Amino acid sequence: MILFRTAALGVIATFALALVAAIPVDQSASTQDMEPSIRPGYDFYRYANGGWLKAAQAAGQSSYDNRTVLTERTSQRGRDLIQDAAASQPARGSIKQKVGDYYASFMDLDAIEAKGLATLADEMATISAISNKTSLSAYLGTTLNTEVDGLTANADHIFGVWVNQSFDDSKHNYFHLLQGGLGMPDRDSYFDPSPKAAALRTQYQSHISAILKLAGIASPDAKAARILSLEIRIAQSHAPDSDAADVFKQNNALKRADFDLKAPGMDWDAYFSSAGVAGQSEFIVWQPSALTGTSALVATEDVDTWKDYLAFHLIEHYASVLPKAVAAEDFAFYGTILSGSQQPPDRSHDAIAATNAAVGQAVGQLYTQRYFPPEAKAKVQAMVADLITAYRGRIANLTWMSQPTKQKALAKLAALHIDVGYPDIWIDYSTLDVVRGDAVGNMRRAEAFNRVHNLAKLKQPADPDEWRIDPQIVGAIILFSPNTETFSAGILQPPYFDYQGDTASNYGSAGAGMAHEISHSFDELGNIYDAEGRLGNWWTAEDLANYRAAAEKLVAQFDGYCPFSDLCVNGKQVLSENIADVAGLLTAHDAYVLSLKGKTDTVISGLTGEQRFFLAFAQRWRKLLSDAALRRQIATDHHAPGEYRSDTVRNVEAWYKAYNVVPGDKLYLKPADRVEIW
Ligand SMILES: [Zn+2]
Repeated sequence: MILFRTAALGVIATFALALVAAIPVDQSASTQDMEPSIRPGYDFYRYANGGWLKAAQAAGQSSYDNRTVLTERTSQRGRDLIQDAAASQPARGSIKQKVGDYYASFMDLDAIEAKGLATLADEMATISAISNKTSLSAYLGTTLNTEVDGLTANADHIFGVWVNQSFDDSKHNYFHLLQGGLGMPDRDSYFDPSPKAAALRTQYQSHISAILKLAGIASPDAKAARILSLEIRIAQSHAPDSDAADVFKQNNALKRADFDLKAPGMDWDAYFSSAGVAGQSEFIVWQPSALTGTSALVATEDVDTWKDYLAFHLIEHYASVLPKAVAAEDFAFYGTILSGSQQPPDRSHDAIAATNAAVGQAVGQLYTQRYFPPEAKAKVQAMVADLITAYRGRIANLTWMSQPTKQKALAKLAALHIDVGYPDIWIDYSTLDVVRGDAVGNMRRAEAFNRVHNLAKLKQPADPDEWRIDPQIVGAIILFSPNTETFSAGILQPPYFDYQGDTASNYGSAGAGMAHEISHSFDELGNIYDAEGRLGNWWTAEDLANYRAAAEKLVAQFDGYCPFSDLCVNGKQVLSENIADVAGLLTAHDAYVLSLKGKTDTVISGLTGEQRFFLAFAQRWRKLLSDAALRRQIATDHHAPGEYRSDTVRNVEAWYKAYNVVPGDKLYLKPADRVEIW
């Protein structure tokens, strides 16, 4: 499956997929990671992280941070759980059996080789039998991709559906229709005039030809040329890639009857009926030009070219579970040419990814049963409750926001859904049959299962607590529509969060991170979505002007950070993330104080609770990276380098008290220069 992601409707806060060698990591706010000989007011980042940075360097790492540690650890746990399920003999029908057999079948190269392409013969025959616009439309309906979401561009197959509330109605689920059908990463790949892009198109055409040849299809070169030219015409109708971030362009409501009038070409009755949504009457079409353009091509393009295109994409879709010649050709284009990898990853790596993609919440259940008990979830929920109370208090005290806007902000905060750890109700996989030794069949059945599951939601009310990320992923998703933020079990672990560990450290690390994300729902990212995730800016022009004026000092603060004699941080470029960092830290500190209920926290390893709170915050940002990578980050990233994010503490009065930082200390900021926006 080829999914390319873009931020349209929200933010993927943390999404790490890389694997690196591990170095030992210990619990939150660790004292052995520090360098106590450095004065906190002089260099708080190295005071907190000097030991860790040295150890990481000694281990030969060139790029290393908490997220890499977490991802490596969590991937290894997922791998062990999946391989253990495959090696044991769980009861037939149990989620463990489904997980294990999915993985084992993907790994069974002998069975895959023995079956060859015969596993696709019936679907190839269906494509061969297409003879006119109606049978073509009916087949295209079967390819409607239900595994896309509001963060995805270019669905696999010509159209994808994402079932979600609308931009105007938060109560009901709608059919969000998204463009798709391109084999290269984006629209620009088809039109970029640069020699590099032109060469890529030639290589893509060769790849198409090679796949057709492996399938024994006659005249592969001529067909590949026609398939590429069809994709170019599909791409022509696609919305420009730059539109992807502008949600107002995607809010196009269409009734079923509009399709025949506004997007002639496709036999829409045939399409929707074979897609399993014959009765669907309301749609939100994200890219109307792609709808009309692609539909027109159904009528104007030669049916035989469509059939070749569909045969190629069918093989491409299943390439990972087809004989090794196909998988190797697929890697040669997508792995080497497009992504620069010389060697395919170990097969088990792909098998684990495929198992997670097919039965993600089944793996999630196995993961959380072992690593994230209900007790952990309850601890995080208690922290979230404190964060919300703290943020409510901060909004009430804002001086730059007008009174009516504050009322809207408070209403939005009251309506915000924050889901943590794992879903309360898991997807029920009981109707999904996973058969050991049948990799293609398993993939087909899992996709059919997920399709039925997704389309069934069209008949159900919108559910803001639906999980859009699997618990075993190290990440978080903010969806502004609905008004929801989800933090997975994968990201809620040490050093960010330790349910058996120190409260002060948990609030200073995970708490500050979660409050950072919460603030995005109210800032210049979230201010165009109301309490129910409907579109509509709820700030006034005056609120915006006051907010921007209040942020000026923070721009100047970050402009002053210069890691190289010839290069400083660009305060404007990283401003919105820095505002969220300050908001996150202040809110988390208020929440920490709330959690103490008037008591004084205990001293641990010679550190007070206040000290551990800020120490954990600074340890959140530790990162080892090369000078070249640091320069690249400063040039392109909207997040400041970790060291300066850790220096956010300079804006917080309690930090000065906790570490006795006084005038004359390098990090000391006069009270008038400290920034508190939220
Ligand atoms: Zn952010």
